[in-house]
Amino acid sequence: MFINGEWIEARSGATFEVTNPATGEVIGVVPDGAGEDATAAIDAAHGAFRDWSRTTAHERSRLLYRAWELMTERSEQLAELMTREQGKPLKAARAEVKYAADFLIWFAEEAKRISGDWLPSPRPDQRFLSVKAPVGVVAAITPWNYPISMLTRKMGPALAAGCTLVLKPAEATPLCARASYEVFIDAGVPAGVINLVTASDPRPVGEVFTGDSRVAKLTFTGSTAVGRQLAAKSAANLQRISVELGGHAPFIVFPDADPVHAAKGAAALKFLNAGQACISPNRLYVPRQHLQAFTDTLCTRVSRLQTGNGLEEGIGVGPLINDAAVAKVETQVEDARAKGAQVPVGGRRITQGLHAHGHFYEPTVLTGVTAEMNIYREETFGPVAPVIPYDDPDEVIALANDTHYGLAAYVYTRDIGTAMRAFEDLRFGIIGINDVNPTSASVPFGGMGDSGIGREGGHEGIAEYQETKTGGFVI
Ligand code: NAP
Repeated sequence: MFINGEWIEARSGATFEVTNPATGEVIGVVPDGAGEDATAAIDAAHGAFRDWSRTTAHERSRLLYRAWELMTERSEQLAELMTREQGKPLKAARAEVKYAADFLIWFAEEAKRISGDWLPSPRPDQRFLSVKAPVGVVAAITPWNYPISMLTRKMGPALAAGCTLVLKPAEATPLCARASYEVFIDAGVPAGVINLVTASDPRPVGEVFTGDSRVAKLTFTGSTAVGRQLAAKSAANLQRISVELGGHAPFIVFPDADPVHAAKGAAALKFLNAGQACISPNRLYVPRQHLQAFTDTLCTRVSRLQTGNGLEEGIGVGPLINDAAVAKVETQVEDARAKGAQVPVGGRRITQGLHAHGHFYEPTVLTGVTAEMNIYREETFGPVAPVIPYDDPDEVIALANDTHYGLAAYVYTRDIGTAMRAFEDLRFGIIGINDVNPTSASVPFGGMGDSGIGREGGHEGIAEYQETKTGGFVI
């Protein structure tokens, strides 16, 4: 763990092992922190806040710029570590490191754009000034599925704004967090400004983060269930919160779209990170007249995907993170099958040969999916593409919106009017129109409804770490 500028063991001396989800091999051992370690991390962040918040925006920008340079220089080592620890194929890991580094340079630039307003008063002897101040100590909790970019998406804006922070990464991916911290440390971040607590049981750390009144803000990315619990606890302390949560993205093919082109997009998008993405499409709505063409193309593409250890050449789909994740996918597919879905491709756990010690599930296509099936409402987080036929294009937006989640949605159409109406009517925070990658460090990322509160990235990303301060001056 990294507390007050030093790499240290847990106070208890406990440790836990980190395993490669493709092979079951132990690839590292890290300190197993608890509440007392989280408190020590907050002590350090609190102690460092005064000096860090008084640095100039240019100093903070230079540090983030240096961190961007170092992350870029180390991208190959970081990508390999990510594949071994989290499982995604090396090509996807390289893309994630690039995306992670993009947040550093974006917020290096945003740091210098922090400004305020000089405002009029009705009184001739009075002037108003309104400025942005850092919120204070930030507690961050991150998931395993994007183990480096989810850190930089929080650390970039927090540091740019002048906040100090404590971070608890997911139990499955502490090595990526450690390597990311080394980037910031080598870039010259002062002691106490960033602190890292690793833990196998997240609950005591979460209790301290949400219960310590010195923490001004909680930023969490993970499941809706955990985000809801933590937000409730933070509310008792009036901490500011950002919670980036789960999703259940619709992918709508309109009748005027090319079904083959749309199916290629769906095949590319759905199996990224083995389907373990909050913006992964979970409901593919296809008009009945295009069902055959769409499904044929999707099945051809999916049956060509090779599943295995992401360090090997040609692998398109890696392992799931653990056995519970495979079991969840298995249960959803069995439920759909029992309720009448067909499984033209995949549909089984892979346990033989080289796959014997990893957590693998075949890339799968389900057809004839209906609203009665669990997969229609539950986030899958696995390599399963559920195809849902529809008849009436006027009703498909209502079907797509029929979810408590509101993170991402995708639309395929060649008609500008249909595109604009869909963009306006879909109740989601991120919408891809003929676009399977509608994300970038330069745009806001976040959801509506049960997908969370707050936005990361873009101009809004830094605002989540700032308070507005108003000054009245009598002259
Ligand atoms: P998770 O189980 O909610 O865990 C997320 C983080 O919270 C991990 O660090 C976890 O630690 C920690 N945690 C769990 N229970 C906690 C508690 N009681 N107190 C404090 N911390 C606690 O989610 P996940 O399985 O890692 O991630 C997958 C979920 O994240 C999906 O629902 C996905 O959609 C969502 N996600 C959302 C976004 C977005 O931007 N909206 C991005 C990526 C992922 P442990 O690892 O030790 O359990």
